[in-house]
Amino acid sequence: MANNEESRGLKSLFDWFANRRKSGSTSLERQEREIADGLWHKCSKCSVLTYTKDLKANQMVCVECGHHNRVDSDERIRQLIDHNTWKPLDEHLRPTDPLEFRDRKLYSDRLREMQEKIGLIDAVNTGLGQINGLPIALGVMDFRFMGGSMGSVVGEKLTRMIEQATQRRYPVVIVCTSGGARMQEGMLSLMQMAKISAALQRHKDARLLYIPVLTNPTTGGVTASFAMLGDIILAEPKATIGFAGRRVIEQTLREKLPENFQTAEDLLQHGFVDDIVPRTQLKNTLAQLIALHQPVLTTPHMVLWETMSLTSTAAE
Ligand SMILES: [Zn+2]
Repeated sequence: MANNEESRGLKSLFDWFANRRKSGSTSLERQEREIADGLWHKCSKCSVLTYTKDLKANQMVCVECGHHNRVDSDERIRQLIDHNTWKPLDEHLRPTDPLEFRDRKLYSDRLREMQEKIGLIDAVNTGLGQINGLPIALGVMDFRFMGGSMGSVVGEKLTRMIEQATQRRYPVVIVCTSGGARMQEGMLSLMQMAKISAALQRHKDARLLYIPVLTNPTTGGVTASFAMLGDIILAEPKATIGFAGRRVIEQTLREKLPENFQTAEDLLQHGFVDDIVPRTQLKNTLAQLIALHQPVLTTPHMVLWETMSLTSTAAE
């Protein structure tokens, strides 16, 4: 036994793990416990186990097969925004339950449970920050909060962020992930589509750049509004992007849909998406696109001035 342990010590971590996998049910139990503890992550595509730290270092992209695991909004902001430059906007906006909606449970209870479980007030984080030194307004949706559904708070936060960006002449980036409109808020949810679109039109009229990044999944009312209104539309590899779900369409058409239906790759081929960018290259790609689209009037002096004003507001 001692010999065995010794020889294991000389091997790589991979061999050590492979050994453990071979050695029966106790090791299997331990392995399952470690996965549950979050030490290891099993890829849902290729089933390879990765040390969670390594996966995080690779921005939650499987090192083996390139599968893009879902990331929460905080992690996404860390990946995209330069250290110490993030200034969140409108954190005080809270969802209400104007329709007193009830499905299996009360919407107000559902909201409270979500807020306690996830530590977010609603399904989007918005703010100002810098990306490789360039100022941007960034909105990041969070799928964990009721499937990233778009209720009044998501709509209002995104609208206010776009309005700030128009005022400051910042480009807007929105990382989308959503099941669509939030049905529990009925029409109030649906009107957010028009509200955000109108704010984007004013941003566009000011000749400013807007880039949505479509991540898995981007569907429903989000696809039908701001996700598709970008000057340049980027998507993550293999992301599901569509309006109605595959099953609903198949049942309506009574037809089997192709395998790659509603994938980023299919949408790129049909011109709905401009490029597919792996997550590990996303920050640099966005920074390059923003730098190329800086307004002609922007001189290094102005960039410096903008940076200084952002830093001083962040310090307040
Ligand atoms: Zn994998």
